[in-house]
Amino acid sequence: MTDPARIPVTLIPGDGIGPECVDAARRIIEATGVPIAWEEHVAGAEVFKAGLPSGVPQETMDSIARTRVALKGPLETPVGFGEKSANVTLRKLFETYANVRPVREMPGVVTPYSGRGIDLVVVRENVEDLYAGIEYMQTPSVAQTLKLISVKGSEKIARFAFEYARSEGRTKVACATKANIMKFSEGTMKRAFERVAPDYPEIESWHVIVDNAAHQLVKRPEQFEVLTMTNMNGDILSDLTSALIGGLGFAPSANIGNEVAIFEAVHGSAPKYAGKDVINPTAVILAGVLMLRHLGLVEEAAAIEHAIFVTLEGGILTGDVVGYDRGTPTSAYTEAIIGNLGKRTENWTIREVTPLQLPQLDPRPDYVRPASRAVVGLDVFVESPLDAAELGASLMDLTRDTRLSLKMISSRGTKVFPPTGALTETGDHFRCRFIIKENPGDLPDEDVHQVLARISREHTWMHVEKLQEFDGELGFTRDQGEN
Ligand code: NAP
Repeated sequence: MTDPARIPVTLIPGDGIGPECVDAARRIIEATGVPIAWEEHVAGAEVFKAGLPSGVPQETMDSIARTRVALKGPLETPVGFGEKSANVTLRKLFETYANVRPVREMPGVVTPYSGRGIDLVVVRENVEDLYAGIEYMQTPSVAQTLKLISVKGSEKIARFAFEYARSEGRTKVACATKANIMKFSEGTMKRAFERVAPDYPEIESWHVIVDNAAHQLVKRPEQFEVLTMTNMNGDILSDLTSALIGGLGFAPSANIGNEVAIFEAVHGSAPKYAGKDVINPTAVILAGVLMLRHLGLVEEAAAIEHAIFVTLEGGILTGDVVGYDRGTPTSAYTEAIIGNLGKRTENWTIREVTPLQLPQLDPRPDYVRPASRAVVGLDVFVESPLDAAELGASLMDLTRDTRLSLKMISSRGTKVFPPTGALTETGDHFRCRFIIKENPGDLPDEDVHQVLARISREHTWMHVEKLQEFDGELGFTRDQGEN
């Protein structure tokens, strides 16, 4: 029976170096005297090996659903067991839409950036984008991954980034996207960011193209305080930011949703170091600090941060910083932090935080309701060994007396029919764009079926996409070379 005076938290030791890191974090948290009742559960490698493809047993799910808070070690995704990462499963099933990845310069951890005061947070969208994992082999030789970005998901993460900045007293939020190329998906994130920014007038905000963000992060990282991004960009750039301050051993992470929060390191299970008592547990310990703040235990959180800083200032450093032949063992490093609880660093500031206000958005599924909508055509994706001219002639012939007419064919996004005079290589995968000849606005299923049946007489199609307009705006992109 759980003591009602204690706060229940699900604890997942994880794989590889996970148990060592999680044990260090747990011991340090307990040493502060916080009233936590841990519920220990498994996920990851052993669960995959036992034959459960999700890697997360029902008891673990039930525990998190009950406690609403989890501290977890890294989970391995063993090759050959289960297709999906158990980490991604946990993040997605509990709709932890915000992934917070803070990094800051640490005492005694010498890097090329030492002395420049790096102290920034990547706020990564955590449940959408390419990590939805929706993939198809559209032909035997062409793979597709869907990049799904919603207006609501983007608005949530943009607001979250500003709210997070407010809660930590930060004054600048940047948004990095690839909206110049992916005008719809990445553009949705950019537009959401720019729409919500005026609600936070005290915070300076700007947009930066993500490749330049990578460049700026290496060149002048101290210009950033909070940097928000879509899922994959955030994944990549947050590993980069970890390296700026001394590596993954110092990079914690929080997965936060409206109902559940899961705290972990950015790093994985680093199996080559498992059980050797050599790794750096700071990332998971700092994840514990983020968890305590989330639980409102801000004094205990600050006490642990002070103790870590005092320990590092005292020159107690793990092998990843000073070399594995000279590093302090994980267990001794943990003891040193416990011994330093109650001491305060004089040279480094520990941030004061106020409670985070999670964005509350309209919960209705049809978040955007256009006043008008129209269908103007159909893209049919065709597998064919023909060249573009032959395929184009054949499709025109086959669909001549239907409501749709072939406007163009593209190969990997570049128009190849009618011929442009360019030398574009083609494969077996074509996007064939048909437009409604007269009275666009509606395309009954019979018309779609008729065109598909005609195409199927001589070719193989594998995917169709309606060409839509919402509120008079095109809901599809033109191809390179299409007018
Ligand atoms: P990784 O486990 O993060 O390890 C990469 C490298 O980072 C290590 O070889 C080591 O560098 C360094 N490192 C990571 N954590 C460290 C620590 N606490 N102390 C000292 N050094 C540390 O990445 P990976 O090898 O790509 O992935 C291994 C497994 O973890 C995979 O199965 C992957 O799917 C999984 N993974 C899980 C999570 C998660 O649970 N959230 C995240 C990422 C990966 P050196 O070799 O330079 O010493």
